[in-house]
Amino acid sequence: MLKRKMIKNFSWPLKTATREIEITRLYPEVMMELPDAERGIHELDATICIGCGTCARVCPNSCIEMVHFKFGSPLKNKKMQFPQIDYGRCMFCGLCVDDCPVECLKMGKKVTMAGWEREDIVKRPDFLATKRFTANEVADLEAEAKRIAAEKAAAKKAAAGKEGASKKPAKEGAAAPKKKEAAPAAAKPKEGGAA
Ligand code: SF4
Ligand code: SF4
Repeated sequence: MLKRKMIKNFSWPLKTATREIEITRLYPEVMMELPDAERGIHELDATICIGCGTCARVCPNSCIEMVHFKFGSPLKNKKMQFPQIDYGRCMFCGLCVDDCPVECLKMGKKVTMAGWEREDIVKRPDFLATKRFTANEVADLEAEAKRIAAEKAAAKKAAAGKEGASKKPAKEGAAAPKKKEAAPAAAKPKEGGAA
């Protein structure tokens, strides 16, 4: 009886091994495949985020705070602010993702998170960002933004100068009607002549 049980115990793992039945996984090295609709830790594309703060405003649990980070485009995100998420309060509802106007925030498939301190589960934009600009790229974009701003300022100045120049003839023309007003005064002697 004991012998039969022992054989059974050894034969079971052999059977499962040959049939490739998955009994357990080498977690965390081997993760289970998650469905497309899985709502895990957010993923941020910092190259297109405009720093509008809509995600922070719509979050029902107020877990998003906009913080400064220098890895986006100063042409799109002038204040260089990106979402920081407190996962101690996040309920993974996805409202922030639905309302993002440029679709740079999405729910990822990373689901594991652990830490010793409360702050360890407050994730900064550099943790969330799956796409970002390098420091050199940011410097180039900043130079481009400055050039565009200088061009705009020059164009504005030129337009203001043209406006000032076009206003001058209008003032000169304003003196002309005075002559016309003098005409009724010249007609007065006629009235006197009829009397
Ligand atoms: S992630 Fe989207 S909603 Fe949030 S600040 Fe960036 S662009 Fe705005
Ligand atoms: S998933 Fe929901 S609770 Fe979490 S940050 Fe976005 S809006 Fe807030």
